[in-house]
Amino acid sequence: MKKYSSRRFFFKKPVRSIVQLLFLVVFVFLVRVLWGAAGAHNLCPWALVEVPALMLSLKVGIFFVGGVILGIIGIAATLFYPRPFCGWVCPLGTLFDFLGDLGKKIGFSAKQIPHWLNEKLRFFSYGVLGILVIMTFLTKRLVCIYGCPAFWICSAGRVAVPIITIVILAAVFILSLRVKRGFCRYICPYGALTALFVPLSMKKVRGNLEVCISCRICSKACPMGIDFLHDFDVNSAHCISCGECIDSCPKRTLFWGNRRDS
Ligand code: SF4
Ligand code: SF4
Ligand code: SF4
Repeated sequence: MKKYSSRRFFFKKPVRSIVQLLFLVVFVFLVRVLWGAAGAHNLCPWALVEVPALMLSLKVGIFFVGGVILGIIGIAATLFYPRPFCGWVCPLGTLFDFLGDLGKKIGFSAKQIPHWLNEKLRFFSYGVLGILVIMTFLTKRLVCIYGCPAFWICSAGRVAVPIITIVILAAVFILSLRVKRGFCRYICPYGALTALFVPLSMKKVRGNLEVCISCRICSKACPMGIDFLHDFDVNSAHCISCGECIDSCPKRTLFWGNRRDS
């Protein structure tokens, strides 16, 4: 097996990268070829929250069922491992992994965000979540599309792009180059929702402190910016089960352990 290298572009952990690319191909095929741009809603797990908000305000029955089911599956999977949908399935996560590596390659990426700040900034996504729910309910419209990179990528060339969307997407693009998975860490409302269930996951990344040499290679490998110096037995709700930390450790210190074990 090839030695893990955080410098490798995208294919650091090949199994994960291939799974991510497969889901990306399926997603693009379903939306661009079979369903059309509106089909993106049927594959968006955020529908789990957005659809009930619209059902209540418009007094209509359920729609975008595919997205609602995906949203439930993403949360159910989190009861086993932390947020596997984000680490292995979500096409946007794949895009952000790619952009994060691109930012590094061109020397645009920021230094590692301090652990305390990385954890605190996560709460911004709960603000996004709350605002989206309230705005959706009040306006009776799918307001999330204004800032959704997936929707606009899928509808490229088919729908006129509002100015507000251009501003938001430009900001997300720059953030993604500067901070790997910055959107996932601090903005995505579905990420915020699944993060609430991480403390209930059966598994988490654990480590053997006696073997650790404090090289921090694992912290540099983590796409969500978790610093193992501060969170060695990973409790952070940022964790997306990518396993990059485990593969990167030269001492084979890290492993998937039971969360409840002491
Ligand atoms: S946080 Fe949001 S955008 Fe990022 S991988 Fe998860 S669902 Fe996708
Ligand atoms: S802690 Fe490990 S498994 Fe979790 S997101 Fe970071 S690198 Fe991936
Ligand atoms: S990569 Fe392994 S040895 Fe280095 S700090 Fe992380 S757990 Fe310790």
